Amino acid sequence: MNFSLRILGAASAMPISEMNPSAQALTVQGRLLLIDCGEGLQQRMRQMHLSFLKVQAVFISHIHGDHVFGLFGLLSTMAMYGRTEVLHIFGPEALGSIIKFYLSWFGDGMNYQIEFHKVSAKGLEEVFSSKHVRVSAFPLKHKIECYGYRFDAIQSERELAKYGPRSYAYCSDTMPFPELKDYVRDVKVLYHEATYPMDFADKAATRFHSTTEDAARCALEAGAERLLIGHYTSRVRDRSVFEREAARLFPNVTAVSDGDEFEL
Ligand SMILES: [Zn+2]
Ligand SMILES: [Zn+2]
Repeated sequence: MNFSLRILGAASAMPISEMNPSAQALTVQGRLLLIDCGEGLQQRMRQMHLSFLKVQAVFISHIHGDHVFGLFGLLSTMAMYGRTEVLHIFGPEALGSIIKFYLSWFGDGMNYQIEFHKVSAKGLEEVFSSKHVRVSAFPLKHKIECYGYRFDAIQSERELAKYGPRSYAYCSDTMPFPELKDYVRDVKVLYHEATYPMDFADKAATRFHSTTEDAARCALEAGAERLLIGHYTSRVRDRSVFEREAARLFPNVTAVSDGDEFEL
C-alpha cells in the first residue's frame, strides 16, 4: 500500500522565502489527506504534482493563521476544477463558523458539499476511517484549542509482515505535557514541532511551543521509530541547529524542509 508523507510547509508563522507555513499531505493508497493548510499550500501541491481533486479529507490542528490560511483558496480551486465529491474537514468547533462565513461570500457555484466534523477529543479518539487508514485526534497544549492527529494504516497480514505496523502522528503546535507520549505511543514516524532551539527555551514556555529537546524527548518516551521536526522560528538563520540539538537525545531525527517526502 502506498502510505507516504509530503511536507508542503515546514515554517512557523513568519514567512520565510523558501518555506511555507505548516501544511502536509499524506498519501493513502492514491487518496490525499491534508494536515493543516498554511498559506502557499496550493503552489506547493502544484510543484509536487499532487492533485487537488484527490483530497479526501482535511485535518486542521487549530485556528492560527499559519495553519489555516491556505484552506480557503484550496476550497475555491476545487470548485473551479468541478469537484462534486463531498470533502470532509476536521478541526476545532470555531472552524465550522469560519467555513460558513467563507461559503456565504465565496460559495456561489460550488458543486460539492463540505462536511465539517467538530473535533473535541479529550484523549485519543477515532475521528475518521476508510478502508486503508484509521485517524484519531488528541488534544495538544497550545495558547488556543489545538489537536494532534494520528494515522494508523489498516494493513493485510502480508503487509504487516513486510513493513510492520505503519503509522504517523502529527503534533503541532504544542508545549510539552506528560500525556502526549501516550497518544503517540509506538508510532512509526512522529512529526513534532520544534519551534525553538535551546537558546530560546524561555520563549518556548511562554508561547506554548516546544524546543528541539522537547520534541526529541517526546519521541524517545513514546518509543517512536523516527522523528521529524519543523515549525522553525524565523529568528534563527542557521537551521542546522534544530536537527543537531534534537539528535543529542534522539539520533533518528530529520529537520524537514518543504518538498521532502517520507515513506511511512
Ligand atoms: Zn503555528
Ligand atoms: Zn499556533
